[in-house]
Amino acid sequence: MTLSEKDSQYLWHPYTQHKTSQTPIAISRGEGALLWDENNKEYIDAIASWWVNPFGHSNKIIADAIYKQLTTLEHVLFGGFTHEPAIKVAEKLIEILPKNQQKIFFSDNGSTAVEVAIKVALQYFFNKNEKRTTIIAFENAFHGDTFAAMAASGISFYTQAFQGMFIDVVRIPVPIKGQEQESFDALKSVIASHNCAGFIFEPLVQGAAGMVMYEPDALAKLIQICKENKVLTIADEVMTGFGKTGKTFAMDYVSEQPDMICLSKALTGGTIPMAITTFTQDIFDAFYDDDINKALFHGHTFTANPTGCAAALASIDLLQTQEMQDNIDRINKSHLNFQKKIENHSKVITARTLGVIFAVEIKSDSEESYYGSMRTKLYNFFIEKGVVLRPVGNIVYILPPYIMTDEQLQKVYSIIEEAIEMV
Ligand SMILES: *Cc1c(COP(=O)(O)O)cnc(C)c1O
Repeated sequence: MTLSEKDSQYLWHPYTQHKTSQTPIAISRGEGALLWDENNKEYIDAIASWWVNPFGHSNKIIADAIYKQLTTLEHVLFGGFTHEPAIKVAEKLIEILPKNQQKIFFSDNGSTAVEVAIKVALQYFFNKNEKRTTIIAFENAFHGDTFAAMAASGISFYTQAFQGMFIDVVRIPVPIKGQEQESFDALKSVIASHNCAGFIFEPLVQGAAGMVMYEPDALAKLIQICKENKVLTIADEVMTGFGKTGKTFAMDYVSEQPDMICLSKALTGGTIPMAITTFTQDIFDAFYDDDINKALFHGHTFTANPTGCAAALASIDLLQTQEMQDNIDRINKSHLNFQKKIENHSKVITARTLGVIFAVEIKSDSEESYYGSMRTKLYNFFIEKGVVLRPVGNIVYILPPYIMTDEQLQKVYSIIEEAIEMV
């Protein structure tokens, strides 16, 4: 039996309807931007394996850091104990995050980072004896699949089975170009009519919605409105963090600073699951009390796993090298050229670029759903050609590892051009 066949016998995959889906491709090896399957077919990983892998597969530097940590201290509980890797990650992040971020809380994945932020927003007001229980979020947001994260997410088929079981979330439009005022007005009106605790957003780029982009000034204005009304702001940088937008964090483009930031995906260079939620001193102080009930009673068994921390440290060091910064610039320029080349194509609705993120919306005769027929056709075409891309409906996006070569990038572009002709 092949690995793919054995897989069907035992495994249940994420976001998969097993009755109608194809068998998964068994990958046996990865190096740089490339993956090889069990039949030795080569693939270019043009989405950095769900946005986690900026420095390439099987990266030696991160692997060495992990090995060294595994043979020194692989793990120790973080309740009542601490260790140097966690402290170093915290120090490093506080150095590079927006200046108001002062406290670091570890968890395991993007959803838990969001879960922690939402719980903190709610408990912050509980601790102050203020009744504020509504969370504000964008339409078509994606913040993860655990319950509070799902409640904040607005893509319906992820959450439809659970409607009516969520915390109170009110949605506002995304301030895309031309729709900014509508978004500001909606935020003001929600705040006026609800007891709002927090506003969670994907800064500048809504990843899972199909790399929907909006401007830093619009986000700054929304944060200002929240600040005037003492609504806590949560920047979910799980996708955008660590260089994807061309700056270390998307919030680096924005003149206002958020109260909390969620990080995960590229944190460990795509090696070990780990997440972090960061906070201002003011938030931490609302939990700092003689009364034990005011503490944040949240934790995970593997909180601040030292091996994950070692991987994160090596990753952040890599990100800060001149070589990696040059790579990010190179990919951005390359994307902009490709955008110019195809944006006037008769089958292209729009194309957009920010940092290493590129997206193109392709014209479709019918209303295209997230996992619709055009998406399937495109996906299969890319896989057949040896490129890993996961279109969102009629939107094809590229989010490459920063080490992807120009030659590999050109191959990805030309296959996207072929796909546009085909559909
Ligand atoms: C992927 C993602 C999450 C969820 O992260 P998981 O690790 O999959 O739980 C949350 N927020 C954003 C913006 C994401 O892109």
